[in-house]
Amino acid sequence: MVREHKTPMNKIAFFNTLKKRQEIFSPLKKNRVTMYSCGPTVYDYAHIGNFRTYIFQDLLRRFLEYCGYTVIQVMNITDVDDKTIAGANREGVTLAEYTAKYTDAFLEDLARLNIERPEHMPRATESIDDMITMIQTLIKKKHAYESNGSVYFKIDTFKHYGKLSGKDLAMNIQGARIDSDEYEKDNLSDFVLWKAKKEGEPSWESPFGPGRPGWHIECSAMSMKEFGATFDMHTGGEDLIFPHHENEIAQSEACTGKPFVRYWLHCKFLLVDGEKMSKSKGNFYTLRDLIAKGHDPISIRYLLLSHNYRQPLNFTLEGIEQSKKAVQRINEFIKRMESHKVNNAISDEGDVLERVTACKAAFCDALADDLNIAEALAQLFNAVRIINNFADTNQIGKRTMQEIEEFITMIDAIIAVRTEHDVEVPNEILELVNGRQKARQERNFAEADRLRDLLTQKGWIVKDTKDGPVPERL
Ligand SMILES: [Zn+2]
Repeated sequence: MVREHKTPMNKIAFFNTLKKRQEIFSPLKKNRVTMYSCGPTVYDYAHIGNFRTYIFQDLLRRFLEYCGYTVIQVMNITDVDDKTIAGANREGVTLAEYTAKYTDAFLEDLARLNIERPEHMPRATESIDDMITMIQTLIKKKHAYESNGSVYFKIDTFKHYGKLSGKDLAMNIQGARIDSDEYEKDNLSDFVLWKAKKEGEPSWESPFGPGRPGWHIECSAMSMKEFGATFDMHTGGEDLIFPHHENEIAQSEACTGKPFVRYWLHCKFLLVDGEKMSKSKGNFYTLRDLIAKGHDPISIRYLLLSHNYRQPLNFTLEGIEQSKKAVQRINEFIKRMESHKVNNAISDEGDVLERVTACKAAFCDALADDLNIAEALAQLFNAVRIINNFADTNQIGKRTMQEIEEFITMIDAIIAVRTEHDVEVPNEILELVNGRQKARQERNFAEADRLRDLLTQKGWIVKDTKDGPVPERL
């Protein structure tokens, strides 16, 4: 179903790392977006820096979906690499057992953060044949060569090497080969596609001998398996631009002779308390660490979501508390509107209706401008203030309420910070609230105060709104 929206598709623009400028987004197929996102290496619990990128991708896909696109997202699960193998050996379990635990934990974390699950989440170990086929093609086309049972991509055979990261192949080539998957930024080298078997490591049979794939080939093989040679979007953290994404482009385009990805979107890094996250500094957090400290995942979602993706984000525990308040405000607004009674006596809703429509459009237009969420949220809170004011003065008619309901549908679809499951009110509390209301109507204020104190003891407060008393958790 194509949802109601105010931003025409031809107004949506994103900053494309490949072109180094903002461009109007126009996918290959009308109304359909193919998106590949580099997924987790499942050797440990994902940290909040990782989740910043996953939440940016979630916002991107939710916005595109709201605008009427069908989004098909592929996210790989890297379940074989140096770190996963080391972890399995350390714990004395098989690689599959070791990575299953962290894959399950990752999926759980996505759900807790209200991140929509990608349509396809292939495991690297289930896609080895596709990687081998690609490596064979690269050898045949003389872009790759074998050496002692390993296979390397020869970067000087791909004349566009460096087009994403801006590296100059002619200036910087080191000549040496690189076996490790992650290497220094100024080290331009032939990189490994297939690693010869080492003692104590899992391996797969291949025409080049037993071994395992390098990390970079994984993303090319898994994305092209689903989408073909060319697809719309590739996303990831900015730390992946070089060498990972540069290498993905080289091996994919050398293999197919066609452009690989049309729009590259990269999310900036995250600092914690103004510093790079590190275990030794004590500022390293997984989502689980924060939940164990009593923070609520929806507030964490909001904090990670609320900063523009192309700006660094400084994450603090105070920031989560502020986010909690913002989430509460949004939820209070939605609840109030759900129980607000429209004024059927209004014949001309003109001005009020127009202002609500304008708020909705401003929210969407901000997101269409390279996902400017900071501006979109400013517009959202502006709308909350304006609409609350209309509710206070009983100016909301039937058509305006329809427009507000659509606005709420949009907030839910794109921002997704509803906490209604947390605020279900038990009957006992409802009875106390009703008793207090009755006492107030009878002007028995002593009894009303007693019931209010009792509610406070039980962890609830009552807000008196124009639509009646609303119980809320303290
Ligand atoms: Zn990748």
